[in-house]
Amino acid sequence: MPYQHLLAELDLGFTRLRNRVVMGSMHTGMEDRFWHYPKLAAYFRERAKGGVGLIVTGGISPNRRGWLLPFGGTLNSVFDLRNHRLLTEAVHAEGGKIALQILHAGRYGYQPFVVSASAIKSPISKFKPRALSIAGIAKTVRDYARCARLAQRAGYDGIEIMGSEGYLLNQFLCPRTNRRTDRYGGGIENRMRIAREIVERVRAACGERFIVVYRLSLIDLVEGGNTWDETVQVAQALEAAGVTMFDTGIGWHEARVPTIVTSVPRAAFAELSARLKAAVNVPVIVSNRINTPEVAEALLAEGAGDLVSMARPLLADPEFVLKTAEGRAHEINTCIACNQACLDHTFRNQRASCLVNPRAGRETDLLYRPVTDPRAMRSVAVVGAGPAGLSAATVAASRGHRVTLFDANATLGGQFNLAMRVPGKEEFSETIRYFQSQLQRHRVDVRLDTRVDAALLAAGGYDDVIVATGIVPRRPSIAGIDGANVLSYVEVLHGAPVGRRVAVIGAGGIGFDVSEFLLHRADEPQPMPRDAWLDEWGVDLAVRERGGLKPPAPARPARQIWLLQRKAGKLGSGLGKTSGWVHRARLAKHGVKMLGGVSYLEISARGLKIARDGVEEWLEVDTIVVCAGQESLRDLAGPTRAEAQAKTAAVASGGRPRYHVIGGAKVATELDAKRAIREGAEVAAAL
Ligand code: FAD
Ligand code: NAP
Ligand code: SF4
Repeated sequence: MPYQHLLAELDLGFTRLRNRVVMGSMHTGMEDRFWHYPKLAAYFRERAKGGVGLIVTGGISPNRRGWLLPFGGTLNSVFDLRNHRLLTEAVHAEGGKIALQILHAGRYGYQPFVVSASAIKSPISKFKPRALSIAGIAKTVRDYARCARLAQRAGYDGIEIMGSEGYLLNQFLCPRTNRRTDRYGGGIENRMRIAREIVERVRAACGERFIVVYRLSLIDLVEGGNTWDETVQVAQALEAAGVTMFDTGIGWHEARVPTIVTSVPRAAFAELSARLKAAVNVPVIVSNRINTPEVAEALLAEGAGDLVSMARPLLADPEFVLKTAEGRAHEINTCIACNQACLDHTFRNQRASCLVNPRAGRETDLLYRPVTDPRAMRSVAVVGAGPAGLSAATVAASRGHRVTLFDANATLGGQFNLAMRVPGKEEFSETIRYFQSQLQRHRVDVRLDTRVDAALLAAGGYDDVIVATGIVPRRPSIAGIDGANVLSYVEVLHGAPVGRRVAVIGAGGIGFDVSEFLLHRADEPQPMPRDAWLDEWGVDLAVRERGGLKPPAPARPARQIWLLQRKAGKLGSGLGKTSGWVHRARLAKHGVKMLGGVSYLEISARGLKIARDGVEEWLEVDTIVVCAGQESLRDLAGPTRAEAQAKTAAVASGGRPRYHVIGGAKVATELDAKRAIREGAEVAAAL
């Protein structure tokens, strides 16, 4: 059996998990409001139906002081049971198991009642915490036990105690945030006391036949974090206190080392779980940047853990396990670790969804209903096989419509073919692979190398035409822009020769990506090998020093780059909340000069002449790369002429075909793949 380790049952003595896949905890925003629980139940139900072994809910606080946000999800009274039963019943109806994550945010709470081990403000919340008194600690321990017992009464199969990522229990564990001089501070025995008491009280309250997962930080990635020996000591004490299994936590939220974005090598931290597994006698869940069944299976086969936690991959594809088990792993819609629709939403207080799967979090309102009545079946032309067109074509075909997909290029994917060439964004190729599998599965008639025009559309006699022709790169009018030393980002990413000194005009997502691309030499291995990545960010997996940090040693950049924008202020402020800082830090580490408030005056063989604060200067560069945004492909001399002509023809023929314009073709400004894929899915769902 190809995935024998991943699909093997796990017998915990008092209960069994049907396989080794854990859907890790993810805050979706729905757990915070009781009226969203029916939607949350549908979201979990779909994942349980897809075969996942154990689901862990988003973080639920044991009391008000532990809220992440004001009025965040809390389980502290019998009145909450009804809502939670909706979730457990939905999961059990599909043969799954579910654990409630108990999360006390401590000083990460974004609310005025925050408490911590000591009164030390975190760099990521404006609220300074109050140090818990001894009585406050005792009450917190009781609140955890009450929450766990209520979870048991609500039908949960277990709980996960969130003890990592820099939340309350992690704050007690580490000297960084624990400066107490009483029996809860000082040596590790004292710093772990609250965690041990919580596990003991939970076990006493819930009995032996209840799963108690403890999510333990294996590497804190902050100064003043724990050492490996301390972490092992904590694990062994918690095991003795009654933990059923350990989940892996990597890095505090305030750490300046990325742990889950797409440029983090797959399974980069798995070695730590393997070492924990060797030190304890209960199962260990390995986590972080595991997004395919191949990687998950290999980790289990080599003994890195007993189970694998995948959170975002289950958002991206609820059927991850089912497809793996049915030999359809190539059909998995792989999480590309972009964070754009999940974590970035959560941090903006929006409901989490998924860039590659817009149904995530919208299971009850974005429905792909099968078309069963042959009279309702439509003949659909989709023009453009970028993310928008691929999404529209696959959803329409999966519902039963007859779909023909055209692209002028020889390959599927549109701009994703460029994105995946950027070092650290190789995952974007997985999305193209997924869509390719769905085109085949749903028998879409794919016509590549075909530039669509009005005649072609008219000859097809389609009921619906979905125009997903994307964008054209903007060419700003600067004197000398047509010079031989000026390239567009498209040319650069296709491998056009670029000099050693480069000015990049435009500092949006693409300007950052192109700068990243140009920092690397063409012969460097991609994706970056794990050890080079660890050196680059200064991570010591042996965790010899507190927190597992060592001096970073970035590789020498291939070029000197100036990244420019006209707006004043910080560059990259429009990038994703949870990933933008990584891009900025990477470029800064490699000496990229980031200049805002720039006017572009002239380009010549000498380079690019700019003005800043009224001062003119020449940037003496070999190449100027234009990344100045895009415009919709709508000019009548271009391919959308087809659209205009066909629209006229459609009016003449009584409204057939119906026209739908999506993605970049609709609006180029603020376009990203999240919107493109969502619009494709929505239009196809409505056909
Ligand atoms: P496109 O991807 O542009 O696809 C349009 C397709 O239509 C093309 O394949 C084209 O050949 C075809 N076409 C045009 N006219 C015709 C015609 N007449 N007949 C047939 N075919 C035609 N977005 C993100 O959200 N996150 C990222 O991290 C990200 N990174 C990026 C990195 C780079 C380097 C680039 C270039 C883009 C990145 N994007 C990213 C942007 C994202 O790729 C686009 O938003 C998305 O591709 C837009 O999708 P679309 O389908 O509307 O258009
Ligand atoms: P963008 O984010 O709109 O950035 C365009 C850049 O060009 C801006 O820096 C803008 O800044 C500059 N510009 C605009 N008009 C100009 C002009 N006439 N002359 C000179 N400069 C001009 O677009 P993009 O970088 O092309 O990215 C396209 C889409 O892909 C975006 O929506 C982006 O979110 C998405 N994307 C996302 C990521 C990611 O990591 N999440 C990565 C790549 C792309 P000034 O006007 O201040 O000069
Ligand atoms: Fe993964 Fe991006 Fe989807 Fe989040 S939005 S689940 S990171 S693909």
